[in-house]
Amino acid sequence: MTSRLLDGRDVASHLRRDLQHRVERLADGDTGAAPQLAILRSGSSEVSALYASSLERAARSVGVEPLALTDDTGPLVESIERLNDDPRVAGIVVAQPLTDLDLGRRLVERIDPAKDVDGATPANAGWLARGEPAFVPATALAVIALLEAYGIPVAGQRAVIIGRSAVVGRPVASLLLARDATVVVCHRATQHLARETRRADLLIAAAGSPGLVQPEMVNGSVVVVDCGINSTPTGIVGDVDFATVAPVVRAISPVPGGVGPVTPMMVLRQTVEAAERAAERAAGRAGPG
Ligand code: NAD
Repeated sequence: MTSRLLDGRDVASHLRRDLQHRVERLADGDTGAAPQLAILRSGSSEVSALYASSLERAARSVGVEPLALTDDTGPLVESIERLNDDPRVAGIVVAQPLTDLDLGRRLVERIDPAKDVDGATPANAGWLARGEPAFVPATALAVIALLEAYGIPVAGQRAVIIGRSAVVGRPVASLLLARDATVVVCHRATQHLARETRRADLLIAAAGSPGLVQPEMVNGSVVVVDCGINSTPTGIVGDVDFATVAPVVRAISPVPGGVGPVTPMMVLRQTVEAAERAAERAAGRAGPG
């Protein structure tokens, strides 16, 4: 059996072209300027630095202006108020994880939910949990974007998710539930994980555990989306043992090259949506000229 590859790089390049056009339209509009995306970073986390630089690259690639703020550019907590009030700033992201978890929480709590383009604020998490998503964590959106790009049905399917974090597992569960999947969320305390995963039509791995998913844990008709990004002596690998699982499933996303490249594009898509909404509000306030 040859399984289908869910190619995130290909999906990201389609998304990029669409966003480039939308940013051009915004820049040609009344404001005459490209929207800005503020990316805040604090501490020495390598993962956070990588996320921030991938967001900066993605922003430039669609014509959005990245604004990098770090501990060196001034007190981050105060900068949030300024960014909230600045009409040119469409989106604000705190590149997680922060070394100082408490600071991370205080920063996120202050972001205006209308500029929260990585779905991090309690307000946006609440809307998502209610089944009325507004801005959503980008990795969770990237999972959905991959499935949609390859026309993989979700409604009525049994989706099994490994992981229940606030940034991946939980929001993926909410988004799949909102699309009428039957959702099972597994975690560290789940007994008989393989019994759950073998029954999946869609298997979403977001555990942060290299090679967790092995061929005996899947059925031949499952579609596997691997969110894992794990650094190993042999390089970056996912949560799925790709070499042995890929040949025995219907479709699978690789790591790297699956969810990873789509995630920054989801932040940018939400940034462009925020900018478009702000432009509509501004046009409404100006009234007919
Ligand atoms: P986390 O550590 O916050 O959560 C991991 C979850 O997986 C927990 O709920 C835990 O109970 C569960 N889990 C861990 N080991 C398990 C096991 N053996 N069996 C069952 N459940 C298990 O991690 P996170 O932030 O959700 O990230 C998960 C993975 O996704 C990591 O590899 C991370 O690097 C990656 N990630 C990728 C992106 C992206 O853009 N692709 C973004 C964020 C995180």
